[in-house]
Amino acid sequence: MTRLAVYFAAVICALAPAFAALAASPAAHQIRVRIEPDTRLLEGKDSIRFDAPRAATLLLSARLRIDSLSVDGQPYAAAARPEGNLQRIALPAARRIDLGWSGELAALDRGLDHRGTLTYAEPASGREGTFLPSGSGWYPSVEGSLERYSLELDLPQDQRGLVPGRLVEERQAGGRYRARFEFRQPAEGITLMAGPYRVEERRVRTAAGSEVRLRAYFHAELAGLASGYLDSVAGYLDLYERRIGAYPFAEFSVVSSPTPTGFGMPTLTYLGIDVLRLPFIRATSLGHEVLHNWWGNGVYPDYARGNWSEGLTNFMADYAYRERDSREAASAMRLAWLRDYAAMPPGDDAPLAHFTSRTHGASQIVGYNKSAMLFFMLRDLIGEAAFDAGVRDFWSANRFNIASWDDLRGAFERASGKNLSAFFEQWLERTGAPNLRIADAKAEVVAGGWQLSVTLEQGAPAYTLSVPLAIRTIEGEITRRVALSRERETLILQLSAEPLQITLDPELRLMRRLAAAETPPILRDAMLAEHPKLITPTADAAVQTAARDLAARLLERAQAEGPDAAMLLVAGLHADIDAWLAREGMASRPAMLAATRGSAQVWTARAGDGRIVVLVSVRDAPSLAALSTPLPHYGQQSYLVFEGARMVERGTWPAQPQVWTLKSRTGLR
Ligand SMILES: [Zn+2]
Repeated sequence: MTRLAVYFAAVICALAPAFAALAASPAAHQIRVRIEPDTRLLEGKDSIRFDAPRAATLLLSARLRIDSLSVDGQPYAAAARPEGNLQRIALPAARRIDLGWSGELAALDRGLDHRGTLTYAEPASGREGTFLPSGSGWYPSVEGSLERYSLELDLPQDQRGLVPGRLVEERQAGGRYRARFEFRQPAEGITLMAGPYRVEERRVRTAAGSEVRLRAYFHAELAGLASGYLDSVAGYLDLYERRIGAYPFAEFSVVSSPTPTGFGMPTLTYLGIDVLRLPFIRATSLGHEVLHNWWGNGVYPDYARGNWSEGLTNFMADYAYRERDSREAASAMRLAWLRDYAAMPPGDDAPLAHFTSRTHGASQIVGYNKSAMLFFMLRDLIGEAAFDAGVRDFWSANRFNIASWDDLRGAFERASGKNLSAFFEQWLERTGAPNLRIADAKAEVVAGGWQLSVTLEQGAPAYTLSVPLAIRTIEGEITRRVALSRERETLILQLSAEPLQITLDPELRLMRRLAAAETPPILRDAMLAEHPKLITPTADAAVQTAARDLAARLLERAQAEGPDAAMLLVAGLHADIDAWLAREGMASRPAMLAATRGSAQVWTARAGDGRIVVLVSVRDAPSLAALSTPLPHYGQQSYLVFEGARMVERGTWPAQPQVWTLKSRTGLR
C-alpha cells in the first residue's frame, strides 16, 4: 500500500501537456469513433482542417489500417512508413484531410503498473477499461501540431467513455451509448478512456458564478466513493477560484482506471481503482490535479525556458494543505524537501530553469520541491497580499497562453512594486543552494541595551538572503531577519535585553543545503548508505539469523568488510540493545519507544562521530523476522513501533537547528 502510495505520488503528473513544438495554428479534428471493448474493435473517421494549406504528417498506430483517405476532397493513395509502434503518413499541402481507419486494439493488461501504462503507449481495450493515450496513434494525430477537436464516441450501452473537454450531448438508443465532446483550446493530443462505468453527476455553481458539471466515472466497486470525491472536487474548485480566478473549463471528472496508474489531464483525472481507494488521495493528489487546470492546462509552461507549473502547483496544493493543517506540518514538509535536497548527489543537481518535465527523482527534488521553496521564499519576501495579487494577475494575463518564469516574475513585480530580478536569477539559474552557518557571535552592552554581532557564512557564490534568526534573550525569544549578501558577513542587531542563544533559520524558511547535524536521520538515509554494517549484539542464534535476513532486505549497498562502516544497523533483543547503547556511550532508548510498546521498535540515531545508527529492538526472534517485509516501505520515517508485521506508530525526529550559545558576560545564567 505504502509503496504504491509513494510511487504513485511520484508520477501522477506524467501526462501534463508538453508543448515542445508549437505550430502556427492548431489542427482541428472532427472525429467519430466506435469502440467494441469485447472484440477490441476500433473504427474511426476524422476530418482534419487547417486554417491555411499546409503539408502534414499523420501518425497512426501500426496496428490500425487506413480504410479511406482524401486530401482536399480528392482520394489520395498515401504510402505509410512504419516507425516503431506507429506509421507515418506524409501528405501534400492541403486545407482538409479526411481519413477513415479501423483495426484491433491491444488487450488491456490489468497487471501493468503505472510506468508500464505510461511507456506501453499502445492503445488498449477490454471490458474492464479502454485507455487510448495521446501519442499511441489511436487516431491520426498531426505531427508537431497542437490540436483542437470535436469527438463523437460510440460505445455498447453498458459502457461510458470520455475525452478531455466539454460534454456537449449524450444519448442512449438502439443498444448504444453515444456522447459528443468538444475541446476548443489547443491541446497536445487526445486521450480517450472508457469502461463499464457508473456515472455520478453533480452540477455546481462555483464561487466565481460559473456552472461546472462534475462527474465520477467509477467502476461498480467504487460506487460508494463517488459522492465524496465530487464533494472534494467542488471544494477545490471553490478554493482555487477564490485564490486565482474562474475555473477555465465547464467540466471536471474523476475517472477510475483498471490499472494502478495516475494521470492528470485538462478537465479530468484518471486514477487507478486501488489508488482511488487510498484514504489520502482526496486530500492531496486530487487537489493537485484540479489545480493543474489553472497551472499547466490553463497557462502552459514555456518548456524550453523551464517548467514552473509543478512548483507552483506543489506550493498551492500539496504544501498549502499542510500549511492549513498546522505550522508544524508545513515545517515538516519543508524539512522533507531540504532533507531530500541535502541527500541528493551533487552531480544530479541542476538549475531550476533547466527543469522541463520529471524524468527521475533528482529532477523532482529540483523541479517540484526547490521550485515550491522558491514560491514560499517569494511570499515571505513580498508578503501574502502581494503574492496573492501576483498569482491572480499572472492568471488573468496568461490564460490559455504560454508563459515563462519571466512572466511570473513580471506579475509579482507589478503586484509588489519590487524589482525581483536578482531573486529569480539566483534561484533559477544557479545550481546548488547556500551553505548557511553561524561562524561567530558576541554581545556587548551599549547605551540603551545590547548590541549583538553575528557573523554568518554561506559559501560561494553568495546569495542575497533575508536570514531569520531566533534570539533567546533573558526576556524571551524574538525573531529577527538579517540581510546577508556576502560569503561572510558580520551583522549588527540592537536588542533591549541580553541575548543568550541564537538559532539559525529555525523554521527552515530558506532554500539551503542543510548541515548533516541539522537533518535528523530517516531510515532511507541508512538504506542508501555506502558501506553499511550489521551488528548483532545478542547471543540468540535465531535473532542473528533474522537480523541477517532483515539487513539483506533493508540495505541497498554491499556491507562493509572492515571497521570503517558509514552506517550501522544494530539489531537485537531489548536488553541487548539497551546494553549496546550504554557500552557505546550513545543516548539511551527514547522514552516514547519504551520496550513494552509493541513487539518491535526501530529508530535512527547519530553516533558521536556523525555516523547514522539504526536500532532494531525486538521482543523475540519472530518479532524481528516479522519486520523484514514491512520495514523497507518506511524509508521516510525516523522511528517506528510494530506489533508483529503491523506498524502501529511512526514519525520523524524534529530538525536539529544550528544553535549558537553566547558567552555570558557575567558567567551567570
Ligand atoms: Zn503535478
